[in-house]
Amino acid sequence: MEDLLQLKDKNIVIMGVANERSIAWGVAESLSKAGANLFFTYRKERSLKKLNKLLDTNEVEAKAVIQCDVNNDESIAHAFSEIGEDVKVIHGIVHSIAFAHSEDLNDDFVNTSRDGFAFAQDTSAYSLVAVARAARPYMTEGGSIIAMSYYGAERVVRGYNVMGVAKATLEASVKYLAADLGEDNIRVNAISAGAIRTLAAKGVPSFNEVLNKIEENAPLKRNVTKEEVGDMTLAMMSHLSRGVTGEIVYVDSGYNILGI
Ligand code: NAP
Repeated sequence: MEDLLQLKDKNIVIMGVANERSIAWGVAESLSKAGANLFFTYRKERSLKKLNKLLDTNEVEAKAVIQCDVNNDESIAHAFSEIGEDVKVIHGIVHSIAFAHSEDLNDDFVNTSRDGFAFAQDTSAYSLVAVARAARPYMTEGGSIIAMSYYGAERVVRGYNVMGVAKATLEASVKYLAADLGEDNIRVNAISAGAIRTLAAKGVPSFNEVLNKIEENAPLKRNVTKEEVGDMTLAMMSHLSRGVTGEIVYVDSGYNILGI
């Protein structure tokens, strides 16, 4: 299997583990089983503590854990030069990061403030562009960049509001980045994950309603898990997906195919 995936000893940066429920942690577990060398970035000290505990109590090894605040260009440059100068070649990046102010998720979208709109875009969409630019000089053997998106990018999901618009930007950015970086054999794709109970998801007021709707209506009649998103990320990171770039891949029990 390792031969098929060609991920053994590949250097992959995972951004966005806040705790054991994080999608990024599901990704870490999948990539670790495939023998990849994992580098983690975190923002808050609280996340670092949780991540260290997870690493201590699970069979996932971190080659390094580095702070990176994606709202800050210097922090991104520092994190990627630290990893890049250490390993020389970066083969993959998993961007599993998003944030919006809670007041922008709890009011009507029409009331989104200028600052709140810009902040959600900066953190949840522009950050992918900045990260890809910082990592590119070290992705000299080609590679794969994966971002996490959600159906709220393309359809109105009540309460997702400014984050839905940020995810639409993220998905468009995936396509533009794929077009730019393809000449370096760097693939850029997004996974559109179904609803999963995480810290970030707590901020979406309609979240329980969304979970129930998926369970009732999705073709698979259930919600997805972070392990399922982790395994698809593994596939999209691996040699198996070498011909795929600029795509939005759904891991959502098929919910997105439904009409009314
Ligand atoms: P999560 O566990 O809360 O992860 C979100 C991560 O974003 C946290 O690790 C957080 O780090 C990080 N982050 C936020 N602002 C940051 C910044 N300025 N710099 C660096 N890191 C920052 O939630 P999750 O659900 O796994 O979210 C991961 C990704 O999946 C997000 O893009 C989310 O939109 C997407 N997604 C989630 C769902 C879902 O239902 N859960 C569905 C589809 C897509 P700190 O905590 O350290 O700030």
